[in-house]
Amino acid sequence: MRYTFPPPPPASVPVVGAGSRFPIHRIYCVGRNYAEHAKEMGQSGSEPPVFFLKPADAALAVEAGATGELPYPALTRELHHEIELVVALGQGGRDIAPAEALQHVFGYAVGLDMTRRDLQAQMKERRGPWDIGKAFDHAAPIGPITPVAQVGDLASAEISLLVNGELRQHSPLSQMIWSVSQVIAHLSTAWTLAAGDLIYTGTPAGVAAVGPGDLLEGRVTGLETLRVRVA
Ligand code: MN
Repeated sequence: MRYTFPPPPPASVPVVGAGSRFPIHRIYCVGRNYAEHAKEMGQSGSEPPVFFLKPADAALAVEAGATGELPYPALTRELHHEIELVVALGQGGRDIAPAEALQHVFGYAVGLDMTRRDLQAQMKERRGPWDIGKAFDHAAPIGPITPVAQVGDLASAEISLLVNGELRQHSPLSQMIWSVSQVIAHLSTAWTLAAGDLIYTGTPAGVAAVGPGDLLEGRVTGLETLRVRVA
């Protein structure tokens, strides 16, 4: 195959304990997957979650022990953090049954669904697409992926985000409206999932704005910490 110019290498994420990297195919995101966050966004908390995507190259992959640098994005005055559990798929498929969904998981990571909230709000008002609020460059920071075999029991794990050492978001993962299995099953009815897909599974309550200089530290029990500084 001859291309008109050399294609860029795929965006990728480091893998804990491996010499290889996880190549990203697509980035799916679940919105309103925690009732308390849905309520803080003006919903009742009983609506089904929603899906949206970010481009694969919006990923800001951060190495273990490192602090990623997130350039403050253009056009916004309200850059919000959303700490999320990220599922990395090692195997794809369509119409995946919830009972078989976890067999498709390669590993898990901590991610941030960074959001230009003011632009997202404008688009909600205009009933337009969310892309300008959600799918900008560097909008998807992610820490190293821990392969499933090395992950403990996520069912009892907790997710949290500290900004400059202060706790901003915190929840047991068990508070997700759709579990990881259900998210994979629902997504696979709408899209053909593939190895390399990342799924940001939604954020708990407590989203708020960050600015230049702020240090974000995201944690999920049993996974590598994600550290990002807003530049
Ligand atoms: Mn989100």
